[in-house]
Amino acid sequence: MGEMYYSEFVDVYDKLFATTKRLEKEAILAEFIKTLAKKDESEWIYLLKGKIFPDYDEREFGISGQLTLKALAFAFGVPENKVTEMYRKVGDWGQIAEELADKKRQTTLFSSKLIVKKVFENLRKVVSIEGKGTVSRKIELIAELLGNASGREAKYIVRTLLQDLRIGVADALLRDSITDAFYHDDKKEMVSLVGEAYDLANDFAVVFEAAQKGKKELEKISIIPGKPINAMLAIKVEDIDEAFEVCGVPAAVEDKYDGFRVLIHKNKDKIWLFTRRLENVTKQFPDVVEAVKKYVKGESFILDSEVVGYDSKTKIYRPFEAISQRIKRKYDIEKIAGQLPVEVNVFDVLYYQGESFLKKEFKERRKLLEKIIKNEKWKLVSARQIITSSKEEAMRFYENALSRGEEGIMVKKLDAPYQQGRRVGYMVKLKPTVNDLDLVVIGAEYGSGKRGGMLTSYILGCRTEKDFVEVGKVSSGFKEKESEGVTYDQITELLKPLIIEEKGNVVRVSPKMVVSVTYQNIQKSPSYSSGYALRFPRISHYRPDRGIKDIATLKDIEKEFVRMQRKAEK
Ligand code: ATP
Repeated sequence: MGEMYYSEFVDVYDKLFATTKRLEKEAILAEFIKTLAKKDESEWIYLLKGKIFPDYDEREFGISGQLTLKALAFAFGVPENKVTEMYRKVGDWGQIAEELADKKRQTTLFSSKLIVKKVFENLRKVVSIEGKGTVSRKIELIAELLGNASGREAKYIVRTLLQDLRIGVADALLRDSITDAFYHDDKKEMVSLVGEAYDLANDFAVVFEAAQKGKKELEKISIIPGKPINAMLAIKVEDIDEAFEVCGVPAAVEDKYDGFRVLIHKNKDKIWLFTRRLENVTKQFPDVVEAVKKYVKGESFILDSEVVGYDSKTKIYRPFEAISQRIKRKYDIEKIAGQLPVEVNVFDVLYYQGESFLKKEFKERRKLLEKIIKNEKWKLVSARQIITSSKEEAMRFYENALSRGEEGIMVKKLDAPYQQGRRVGYMVKLKPTVNDLDLVVIGAEYGSGKRGGMLTSYILGCRTEKDFVEVGKVSSGFKEKESEGVTYDQITELLKPLIIEEKGNVVRVSPKMVVSVTYQNIQKSPSYSSGYALRFPRISHYRPDRGIKDIATLKDIEKEFVRMQRKAEK
C-alpha cells in the first residue's frame, strides 16, 4: 500500500493526452482510479487535474516561466542562456524539460525512480515555502524532482507546476470516471449522487474516498459552516413570460443587484465570507463581518447574498467595477472599506442551527430568512421581493428595479430546493439585452509606442470539455488612468506572472483572468480555434470574483450564435 511510481501517472497523462474522445478518457480514468483506490492515498487524485489541493483551496505554485528556466538550468547543470536559447526555438517548457532529462539519463548511470509520494510532497513544499530565500528553495525542490525524473516525467512535472497539464480532465469527466470506477448498477442515480457530493465537498479526495465506501458515505457528505460550497446559478430568459414558464406561478420576483456574490458562513463566533469561486474574502470585508454579527440572528448558518457598493455621500448604488478592487485588497483594508462601503443583500439561507436547508423549498427558506434578519438599510437587508402570478405586476417590479439602477430581476421557483452549480432553472435572470459573456484571457499582445511594454490586447477563450478555445481578440475596455477604473498597467501586472509562452510580442497565459465582455454580434470565423468570433468586443469588467468554471462554454457561444441569427431573421 502507499507506494506508487510517478511513471504510472505519467502513463495515464500520456494516454489522456492522446485522445479527445470523452468516453475513451472516461475509461482510462476509471481504470486508473481503481488502481489508485488500492493505494489508500486519496489526495493523489488531485494530480489528475494537475493539482495538489482540493478545488476550494486557493494556494498556487506561483511558478513563472523565468523560475522554470532557472530550475531547469540548475537541475541539469546547463547555463541559463542555453535554456533561454532552447526556449526561443521550442517555446514549450515541458518539452525542454523532457529533452534535458532524457539527455541526462543517457549520460548518467545511476538514477532512482520517482515515487508519487515524493512528487506530491515536494510540490506541496513549493507552495508552502515563504520568506527569505523562497525562490532558491523552490528551485531546489523542483530540481530535486527533475534530477530524478525521466524525460516524460520531467515534462509533466513542469506542466503541473505551470498549471498547464494539457490532458483535458475537467471536473465533470473526473466525477463520471469516479462513478464508473465503483458503480455498475443504478448508474444514473450514482452519477447524480457523486455530482451532488462533489458540489458539497468541492474536494475530489473526499468524494473519491466516500465513493469507494459506498452510497451511504456519499450521502453523508454535507455542508458545514466554514467549508466553501458551490452556489446555485441562474439561467437567462428573454421576458417575463419565459420566466414564468420556467419557474411556474406564482413565483418570487427579486431585484438583481449589481455587486458580487458572497456566501456568508457562521459558526459560533467565527464568520467566513466566500466568493462564488470559493475564495475566502473574510479579511477583505471586516465591515460585512460586523454587519453579519449585528443583524443576523443565530449561532450557525450559511447565507447566500449579493454585496453591493454604494456612494456614501449620494447613497446611490455603484456598479460592480467600483468595488471590485476590494476583493483582492491586501493592505489598507479598513481605509478602503470606509471609502467604498457596501450593503449586503441576503437572498437565501442554506444552513441554519446545525441543519442543512438545501432540500427545503425556497419559500420556506425565505420565510426563515425574514425571521433571522434585522433589516438595516445600507448595511444588511433581505433582498426586495414580491410573490406574484401577475405578468403586469412583475413587469412593474422589473421597471422599478431598473429605474433604481439595479441590473434587472431574478425570478425564482417557490417550491424548488437549492441546487448547487448546475443551471437547473430554479432561478432565472432577466435584464435588458446587452450581449455579454464571461470569458477568460488565454493570451495577450504587447502594445507599441506609448503602450510599449504593456499587454494591451487580449485573446479571449471559452471553455470546452477539454480545454479552452479562442473566440476573439479585444483591446478596448480598460483605462489609462487609475482614477477611471482598472488600467492596462494593472492588468499587465496581473497577467505577467501567468505567462507560459512568449513568441515575438504575443504571449500565451495560463487561463486565470476572467473578464466580462460585451459585443455586438457573433460570427463564424476560421481565425479562431472555436470557429466563432465576437464582433466589436469590449471588456466591461475585470472579474476577480470569478473563476474559469464560471465562464461561457463553447456550447453557450453556439447557442448565442443561433439565438442572434434567429433574432436577425425576425
Ligand atoms: P450575471 O453576469 O448576469 O450577474 P452571473 O454569471 O454572475 O450572471 P448567474 O447565476 O447567471 O450569475 O446570475 C445570477 C447572479 O446574480 C448571481 O450569481 C448573483 O451574483 C446575482 N444576484 C443579484 N441579485 C440576486 C438575487 N436577488 N438572487 C440571486 N442572485 C442575485
